[in-house]
Amino acid sequence: MAAASKPRYVDLTNPSLSVECPRCGLLTARFVDQCRNCGYKLWPSSVMASAAFKAWRNADPSRAEASRFDMDLPQPPVDNTVDYAARAHQLGIHLFPNSNYPFTICLGIFFLGLAAIPFDSTVRIVLAVIGGLIFLFGVVGWVLVEDVRMFPSESPSAQGEVEH
Ligand SMILES: [Zn+2]
Repeated sequence: MAAASKPRYVDLTNPSLSVECPRCGLLTARFVDQCRNCGYKLWPSSVMASAAFKAWRNADPSRAEASRFDMDLPQPPVDNTVDYAARAHQLGIHLFPNSNYPFTICLGIFFLGLAAIPFDSTVRIVLAVIGGLIFLFGVVGWVLVEDVRMFPSESPSAQGEVEH
């Protein structure tokens, strides 16, 4: 075991984590003892492959995050955050604003649904009026107030954009 923990024949200057298998010619992880494609034994033992990997990793601080089961070094994290609202505005795509009014609309529909139950007709009319008012309040607030506030300059700044 003492001999196995000492890696021999490791090219520490080679930055690659993958290697071409001598038998099948396909790329495989360099520090896993067997080829992933054909099972060819790249290292005498897994312990020796691991020791070789540790020696390779410690030779360069940029390899600290590497995994011996990967074929490439991990890429630095990419900030791919996208402001979809700004992007949609730029492209002239209409997005509905983030809003709580759909909950109001659902509450109105709930009362309208209660009005559909065959109660006494006075009760049904009262429920229908309550539901209709809440429903209209939600629709007006969402479509006519918040939506217009989010896209206030749709007509003045529409030069060069496709007219809907
Ligand atoms: Zn192979």
